[in-house]
Amino acid sequence: MKASALASGSSGNCFFIEDKRDSILVDAGISTKQIILRLGLIGKNPENIKAIFITHEHSDHIRGADYLARKFNIPIFATKKTIENCDICSNEDLINPINNNESVDIGRMRIEAFSKSHRAFDPVSYNISNGNKISIITDIGYACPNVISNVSDSDMLFLESNHDVDILENGHYPYFLKKWIKSDIGHISNIDAANCVLENARSRLKYLVLSHLSENNNTPQVALDSFSVLRKRNRFNPRIFISDRYCPTELFNI
Ligand SMILES: [Zn+2]
Ligand SMILES: [Zn+2]
Repeated sequence: MKASALASGSSGNCFFIEDKRDSILVDAGISTKQIILRLGLIGKNPENIKAIFITHEHSDHIRGADYLARKFNIPIFATKKTIENCDICSNEDLINPINNNESVDIGRMRIEAFSKSHRAFDPVSYNISNGNKISIITDIGYACPNVISNVSDSDMLFLESNHDVDILENGHYPYFLKKWIKSDIGHISNIDAANCVLENARSRLKYLVLSHLSENNNTPQVALDSFSVLRKRNRFNPRIFISDRYCPTELFNI
C-alpha cells in the first residue's frame, strides 16, 4: 500500500491510501480544490478514489466531503451518529452508514472502524489492511484500549501528537479550552502519544507520522523531541515524520 497525509491539523485533515488501482481517503477536511491540488502533488488524481471514510463530524474532518463526493460520485462511509450530526453530503445515495466496529472491503483493502475517545457523537479511527496494516489515529483524548491494541500491530501509524503540555499550560488559551484539550475526550499530548508507542508498538512498526499537531501549542521540533524516548528501546527504529497542514507528506510505501 501507499499512503500520504494530504493535510493534518485543526485546519483540516485528509489521508490518502492506495493499493494498486484502488484508493480511498480517510477524512476530507480541506476544500475539494485543495484535495485535488494536493493529490496532484503526489502524482494522483481523484478519479481512482473509491470511498471516503469519515472519522467524526468536526469540520476539520468533513469540510470537502460533500462536494468531492458529488463531483466524482464517491461513496462516503461514516457512523450513523456522525451522519446525523453534520451535513456530510447532500446526495443521500452516496452516504453509507457503518457501525463503529465494522469493516468494509475496497478492492484488496479492508478498512476497519474502531471507537475512540473524543468529544464527538460516535467518533472512530480506521485501520487499512491488505496483509500490511496502516492505522490512522487522530483526535483522541487518550490512548484507550482500542488505540493501544491497534498501535501494537501496525506497520504504519498516523498518530496524533497534538500538544506540548507546558506550551498549552503557559499559553493564552482560556481555561475551559485547556481543560477540554487535556481531558480524556480532547486531544493527546506529545508525551502521552510517545509513551503509547514506546510501550505498545512492536518492531514491525516501520513508519510513524506524527499528526494533528496544534498550531499554537506545539511545533514539529518539540513533537519530535518528545519521541526521542523511543530510543530507550533496543532494535526499535520506526522512521518518524511530521504531517503538515499545508502540504502533503511524501507518498510512503508500505
Ligand atoms: Zn480534528
Ligand atoms: Zn475532532
